[in-house]
Amino acid sequence: MNNEIYLDNSATTKCFPEAAELVCRILTEEYGNPSSMHHKGVEAERRITEAKQILADILKVNSKNLYFTSCGTESDHLAIAGCARANRRAGQHLVTTVIEHPAVLETMHALEEEGFDVTYLPVDGDGVVSPEAVAEAVREDTILVSVMHTNNEIGSLQPIAEIGRLIKEKNPKALFHVDAVQGFGKAQIYPKRMKIDLLSASGHKIHAPKGIGLLYVADGVKIRPTLPGGGQQSGLRSGTENVAGMAAMALSAKMLYDHLDEDVDRLYALRERLIGQAQAIEGVHVNGKEGRGSAPHVISLSVEGVRAEVLLHALEERGVYVSAGSACSSNRPHLSETLKAIGTPKELLDATIRLSLSVMNTEEEIDAAAAALAELIPFLRKYTRH
Ligand code: PLP
Repeated sequence: MNNEIYLDNSATTKCFPEAAELVCRILTEEYGNPSSMHHKGVEAERRITEAKQILADILKVNSKNLYFTSCGTESDHLAIAGCARANRRAGQHLVTTVIEHPAVLETMHALEEEGFDVTYLPVDGDGVVSPEAVAEAVREDTILVSVMHTNNEIGSLQPIAEIGRLIKEKNPKALFHVDAVQGFGKAQIYPKRMKIDLLSASGHKIHAPKGIGLLYVADGVKIRPTLPGGGQQSGLRSGTENVAGMAAMALSAKMLYDHLDEDVDRLYALRERLIGQAQAIEGVHVNGKEGRGSAPHVISLSVEGVRAEVLLHALEERGVYVSAGSACSSNRPHLSETLKAIGTPKELLDATIRLSLSVMNTEEEIDAAAAALAELIPFLRKYTRH
């Protein structure tokens, strides 16, 4: 469809053509296994080295501290389960927040079944956890704290640097994991400066293909592989490397970070433009902090008297793609824990949609989407029973 307006970029993004072309070239020409000793293998290995260096430069870390996985979910799982199991003798306590992605929360639940003790911290009405509350929760036997950089449903930003500082003040041995799947590519994130020991990112959220994730592991962190095997990637993550995905993730990241500040300014302007028009519609509420207090790309709207699913499909008929609550689980409809955690009234829990932007969106698209909302909401409300 020509006039499709894709506003579901927190679910996934369209691949940059440059990244797709690179994938195609590597798969069809430079298809060697990096473990092979011949030229094709060396060529593939070089691609991995280059990809790691590009990503390391962006994060201002050493490339030897970077590992590739299959997705953000795997990075989160490897970071949390891998560290919990490797550090069990030092303690059994983990800390996280109630608004983490299921990749984190489900890993925490699985670890509870293995005997670990997990503290789930609440957030305020804007979806932000208090750094002091994190520090207070950290104990002598805390081995890891996991706090997301940017929330995928409402775009709340956590004070990561402050949290990192306070964790280390309280217990220097406690590891700090940050799920930056929604933040990487939208913000400058420096693990060393922010006292982050483990950082997760995902390719398909930054215009690279699906099937590639990244994990930063600081020096000295004890971590056990969750996928043992042939010993690739220093034994931490076995499996023949997805060389094309790695190279494409690095290229997409570079394309974003080469002019991140301008793009972020433009995204905030688009976000404000959409919010301004949405707020002019009666009974529409914006979740989370205003302006730069939230992520540049996520807009969460609660719409009185209209079910999210109905609005989503009505928008879809106009070529506008959004999601209901969190797209990661939109095919398993449930009431969002994040929306509950920020105190969203019961009647709005299934009346909340998420629009998420990317650098590919334009002002025209935003205006067209806002016009569709303005037209559809009063119309659909008439047919909703109260
Ligand atoms: N963490 C967050 C905050 C996310 O938004 C997502 C996906 O939406 C993930 C983790 C999982 O990433 P992936 O889809 O690459 O497994």
